[in-house]
Amino acid sequence: MAKCSVCGKPAVYVAKYEGKAYCADHFLKWFDKRVRKTIRKYRMFGPKEHIVVAVSGGKDSLAALHYMSRLSKRVPGWTVEALLIDEGIEGYRPITIRDFKRWAEEWGVSYRIVSFKEEIGASLDEIIKLGLEKGLPYQPCTYCGVFRRYLLNKAAREMDATVLVTGHNLDDEVQTFMMNILRHDMDRMSRLGPTTDAGTEYFVRRAKIFYEIPEKEIVIYSMLHGFFPEFVECPYARLGFRWDVRHYINLLEERYPGIKYNILKSALDVSQAVRKTRPPQHPQLCKICGEPSKGPVCRACELRIMLGLLEKPDWFELPKK
Ligand code: SF4
Ligand code: ZN
Repeated sequence: MAKCSVCGKPAVYVAKYEGKAYCADHFLKWFDKRVRKTIRKYRMFGPKEHIVVAVSGGKDSLAALHYMSRLSKRVPGWTVEALLIDEGIEGYRPITIRDFKRWAEEWGVSYRIVSFKEEIGASLDEIIKLGLEKGLPYQPCTYCGVFRRYLLNKAAREMDATVLVTGHNLDDEVQTFMMNILRHDMDRMSRLGPTTDAGTEYFVRRAKIFYEIPEKEIVIYSMLHGFFPEFVECPYARLGFRWDVRHYINLLEERYPGIKYNILKSALDVSQAVRKTRPPQHPQLCKICGEPSKGPVCRACELRIMLGLLEKPDWFELPKK
């Protein structure tokens, strides 16, 4: 059995990429040190912040809420709230909402739950059916991603958030980078990174406190703190492109420990280089809903029109695809 590289007690985790092992106590200290370093390195927070943590009920975002709720107790100018988007995915979301409520209440964090059904007009399960009826491609994760990002920004702004913390980890970031390369999506590439630029009155600034932390280590953090949520997987997850990309990157990491960190460094360099070639766009406001948008109508309203959840204004032409 591996021994802790610091004290020699039985190890709970071996960090192959570092050639070190850690017992429970030293793992938690090492974890904390690295998250703090990430926060400092990318200047994630100022002395006064109203931090809203975006929680899905899964381990990463629950760990982010746990971490921030504890850290904020030591910083007098910080307050923390949680925000959960209920997409409406049967057999999956109700379980994660149950876990989320239980832990948020135990940690004394107030929260808001916003649902697709109320805000968009249909649950994700219904949206997928509507899409098929309208002859649109089968794309659960696209609908989910567009509407979730839309609602996260809108709800966080309504909660007066100065920053929106998400549970994205090293694995998520590396997968997104590879997906952008494979799809040649330079628009999304330019938005990668540990934080977004300073917030505006329309956009709430984002921060990923686990940007440099592998997924596996967040699992151990949650288990050692006793809040590992029940494992449930979104029924649409295996249909997504991300699933395959994740599988191949994990294979590479097994064979070449540390490769994820190399990809992360490339991701940071490439996204910064791409950003320089694209002058910052001043967001317009969607003519239908008033939310920030790249064009006269935001992507969420465009999708709602295509799905028949919103009436098409006469002046608006749907994009031809
Ligand atoms: Fe949404 Fe796709 Fe993630 Fe499921 S796997 S929660 S549909 S983005
Ligand atoms: Zn809109």
